[in-house]
Amino acid sequence: MSGKPKAKGEAKIEVKAKDAAKAEGAAKETGAARAAAKAAGPGQSEGEARPYGEARPDGESQADGESQADGEYQADGEYQADGGGESRQIDEAKVREAVTLFLRAIGEDPERPGLAETPGRVARMAKEIFAGLAIDPQKHLERVFAENHEELVLVGNIPLYSFCEHHLLPFFGKAHVAYIPHKGMITGLSKLARVVEGYSRRPQLQERLTGQIADAVMRSLKPYGVMVVIEAEHMCMTIRGVNKPGAKTLTSATRGIFRRDAAARAEALSLIMKEATH
Ligand SMILES: [Zn+2]
Repeated sequence: MSGKPKAKGEAKIEVKAKDAAKAEGAAKETGAARAAAKAAGPGQSEGEARPYGEARPDGESQADGESQADGEYQADGEYQADGGGESRQIDEAKVREAVTLFLRAIGEDPERPGLAETPGRVARMAKEIFAGLAIDPQKHLERVFAENHEELVLVGNIPLYSFCEHHLLPFFGKAHVAYIPHKGMITGLSKLARVVEGYSRRPQLQERLTGQIADAVMRSLKPYGVMVVIEAEHMCMTIRGVNKPGAKTLTSATRGIFRRDAAARAEALSLIMKEATH
């Protein structure tokens, strides 16, 4: 269910976790352990193998280590490419030119009445559908609420429209985001939808999109864990290639407790699959 951890990113997280563990007191430990135990369910041992493969020589509780890691959560280079909101403006003139060339290349006449306005239209559309390139979607999570709630929160069926970067064809479906808040840090449901939209409006891979959403939630809300599941239909599989209309691609990304605790993961996943449309 949970993919293999990305070695590079995880290594970084581990270092941060250890630094943070020094700085922070044990105050968190009780709450974190409680939530971890709660999420793990009865009979779930804390000593389960850690997918990260980290040695924990200090013998501190897993839950503590986890919440510390969250406090300093740092995604790998892939996500730093978001550049903290660095702006990548779309060059409308270039897009117009490219579309004109493309039409000519497929043997069309870009001057004919039906197509004359097309390059301009596509250029304007590009600004909209790839607007996510110019923003840092994580910014939508800057405002968090403090609620006395450390149980699973599931925001299901968030509509999703994105573009496969291999074919520049749409893929669309639903995103489901589950997390267990830490210190009651939660976000508005619409904010999560904005995060999904922000990362979707880019040339994307469904797998990367899933991970980016999970990482954004992890960095901003610092929850005990987050699980993101995306189910999507890819037009590049529907109208070409394997020609499989209706086939759905399911991806998941797990962080924190959902990554290392099979019981917590199973619980969240079963809730998500109840939400999911079939
Ligand atoms: Zn594709």
